[in-house]
Amino acid sequence: MPKQFAVIGNPIEQSRSPELHQAFAQDLGINLQYDKRLAALDGFEQSIEDFFKQGGQGLNVTVPFKEQAFALCGHLTERAKIAKAVNTLWMENGVLHGDNTDGQGLVNAIAALGWSLENSRILILGAGGATRGVIFPLAQAGAQYIQIANRTLSRAQQLVEDLKAAVGKTQLHATALDQLHGEFDLVINATSASLTGEALQLPETLKFDHAYEMAYGKASSFLDQAHQRGVSSSDGYGMLVGQAIEAFEIWHMVRPDLKKFL
Ligand code: NDP
Repeated sequence: MPKQFAVIGNPIEQSRSPELHQAFAQDLGINLQYDKRLAALDGFEQSIEDFFKQGGQGLNVTVPFKEQAFALCGHLTERAKIAKAVNTLWMENGVLHGDNTDGQGLVNAIAALGWSLENSRILILGAGGATRGVIFPLAQAGAQYIQIANRTLSRAQQLVEDLKAAVGKTQLHATALDQLHGEFDLVINATSASLTGEALQLPETLKFDHAYEMAYGKASSFLDQAHQRGVSSSDGYGMLVGQAIEAFEIWHMVRPDLKKFL
């Protein structure tokens, strides 16, 4: 019987994790089964208990359960503690272990694009869960300055407060989304505006070399503006593949080659 893995969320139909993990496994000659599991909104804890009791080896966690998964773990990696969210679960000696691979997935996707993060100035639009998860890995990858711009300024300020001790010498700064200006190496759209079809307006006084949209498979006014300016850009599919590779390596101790799956 193959080892059992799954992604758990609500809704779950949209998840591309099974196809990615199956493709990695096929490429590396590993026999596994990877399913989608729908958990009731009030039934997440029971679902993961059942999964591991039935011999499941590893779970990916998606919306809206990443914070609940964080709270249930008996052991957390440093980056999961800082993100306060978990997207990868496994059991070791009867203890539920959790990691957050989203941020490293983004860093690896950016490296595959050939964009350097060393001493970079980065602007992140949005201050939700995805932004919280990527700041520490971006700082570790060498970002010199990270500005977080959010529609609700207080949320960006809170993130800066929460994360400034963790990021070492990387400078963090919070601004309101309607106060954008300055020069950056990279702008990351981590708002959910593209998911809801809402437009983001980037002012002419904002200059940047690269644009990364975290969403994928959706129309994006952010990417449209990047194209109009002629800067290099990418949607978030590489980040999705990147986080899946990190999870795969935790579970199987062998690393798929990112470039093969982009
Ligand atoms: P959250 O719901 O936690 O946060 C949403 C953020 O978007 C908030 O900062 C919110 O601002 C802002 N926002 C929403 N609508 C607008 C708007 N119309 N104009 C300006 N700001 C807006 O979402 P997540 O952080 O979990 O996800 C953010 C994005 O990242 C999504 O597109 C998601 O799909 C993507 N993502 C991609 C991944 C990948 O692997 N590629 C992994 C994880 C996320 P406010 O605080 O003011 O409400």
